[in-house]
Amino acid sequence: MEKISKPTEIKHQLGHMEVDHYHYTVGLAGERFFTALREEGKLLGARCESCGVTYIPPRIYCEECFAELDEYVDLGLEGEVRSFTIARIDRDGRPLDPPEIRALISFGEDTTDLLHLLGEVEPEEVYIGMEVEAVLKPKREREGKVTDIRYFRPIK
Ligand SMILES: [Zn+2]
Repeated sequence: MEKISKPTEIKHQLGHMEVDHYHYTVGLAGERFFTALREEGKLLGARCESCGVTYIPPRIYCEECFAELDEYVDLGLEGEVRSFTIARIDRDGRPLDPPEIRALISFGEDTTDLLHLLGEVEPEEVYIGMEVEAVLKPKREREGKVTDIRYFRPIK
């Protein structure tokens, strides 16, 4: 347990380090969100009573006023496209065919937006304000991840 005074000394290590089982926690509010999604197929938000903002995914503190948030609300599965972009290449520059439509979904005026994919719609058909609904994986396939929502599709 000697004191290290040169930063380069702490970068060097011999042997192997297991990183296969490294997980990071989604936090209390995230846990609640993903459990509700997996078990009940619900999208939960955390509402701040002081300033009226609802966060999705939920936070434990309000980013506006720092109040502790412990009120959860079921936001339903329907929202509206606030903004969107068409991705034609992936992170490594490979073509995406078909292209992906990434959108900010709004669940209401005082609610933060959720970034997700749109599906069952062509890129040229998407518009801001389009009403969409979440398409979830069947319950037995859900893992408590954001990909439990396959995508959002237009409400016909
Ligand atoms: Zn607040």
